[in-house]
Amino acid sequence: RMSTGRAMSLDVWSIFNAANLPADCINLGQGYMNFAPPQWVKDAADASLNTVSANHYSHPKGRIRLREAIRDHYSKDFNRTLDVENEILVSSGANEGQYAVWVAFCEPGDEIILFEPYFDQYLPSITFNHGVPVYVPLHPPTNFSDKTTSDAWKIDFDELRRAITPKTKMIVVNTPHNPVGKVFTEQELQKIADLAIEHNLIVMSDEVYDCLLFDQKPHVRIANLPGMWERTITVGSAGKSFACTGWRVGWLIGPQSLVGPTLAAQTRIVFCTNSPLQEAAAAGLEEAEQRGFFKKQVEEYQERRDVLLRYFDEVGLKYSTPEGSYFVLADVSDVQIPEDYPFPDMIKGRGRDFYVGWFLAQELGVSTIPVSEFYCDEHMKIGERFLRFAFCKDLDTLHKAGERLRGIT
Ligand code: GLN
Repeated sequence: RMSTGRAMSLDVWSIFNAANLPADCINLGQGYMNFAPPQWVKDAADASLNTVSANHYSHPKGRIRLREAIRDHYSKDFNRTLDVENEILVSSGANEGQYAVWVAFCEPGDEIILFEPYFDQYLPSITFNHGVPVYVPLHPPTNFSDKTTSDAWKIDFDELRRAITPKTKMIVVNTPHNPVGKVFTEQELQKIADLAIEHNLIVMSDEVYDCLLFDQKPHVRIANLPGMWERTITVGSAGKSFACTGWRVGWLIGPQSLVGPTLAAQTRIVFCTNSPLQEAAAAGLEEAEQRGFFKKQVEEYQERRDVLLRYFDEVGLKYSTPEGSYFVLADVSDVQIPEDYPFPDMIKGRGRDFYVGWFLAQELGVSTIPVSEFYCDEHMKIGERFLRFAFCKDLDTLHKAGERLRGIT
């Protein structure tokens, strides 16, 4: 599979994996929580195992209870009553759902626009389906002050316009953004939407962190902008919503013209998503509102974010305060690493951030994710200044990691 290029090289998650790192290393790398899903959601998972039908294949569209829960939870967000038969598709994690979109729509040579840094899984999903990724960088802030937020990462819209060709099929939007934490504003999304409409493009909007926005920042869905519902497929995730990333339950929402072919593709990829945990995810969505769950969860995450950022302030790490997601990028270009350090072969030839990340994991016992992995070779220089820290951890762990960061030089 030479044509897939970088997609077949060792991925960042396998390199910065607990299996390769010191035993007591604190994982602020791959984004998963070190706490359990809410009790009522776990109880529903238990109960589902005692329901015979929930142990067997579900309809490829997803179990009806979950599709109805998605409809009831999201219809007001999309200003329409979502049709559970044609406009909602349950997937095996958001990742597989996105993959199915590319299987359904990507024809050889189709160009897909990605904003960098982009979540790395998009790339193989596109190239395995013979699409061609086209990269438009988000430009980092030129100066970092204590007021700099993730909003300071900007698209150059002339650059975006120039990236569009007759072969362009799709633009991928990700808000709140992994790894920057940027929450796209309505104005930014409107400019993307204008181009999508002008050039008749599909938009895949990855909104898996849609329940994690801070400082009262509103979540704007590009699907809701005029003329966009018909061309947008929106991606959601139970893993992020209910602290169960390993359950692999996600969903897609969009018009029948986009969901239908994606269903056909997904049926041939996984046939259906695991059934019992769909029931549990349904229970999560059914009760979240009345339990005030998401509001409380945002407060908890905002505190986690702020705890970590105070340690960054203390040691002088520069960052842009994330307005959403559970990631923050820190500028590590000033962190010194000894040249004669025994770096393993698997990071040789990668960006400087891989070396800094490896060194910090070994020496301080805090693992992170190097950001150059989320850039194409041409733009890698932008990303290699940064490491991504995940703060989806309990406060004790964040304090412990913060104490260890005091050893940064
Ligand atoms: N979305 C998670 C992260 O960015 C998990 C990555 C993955 O799927 N391998 O950390």
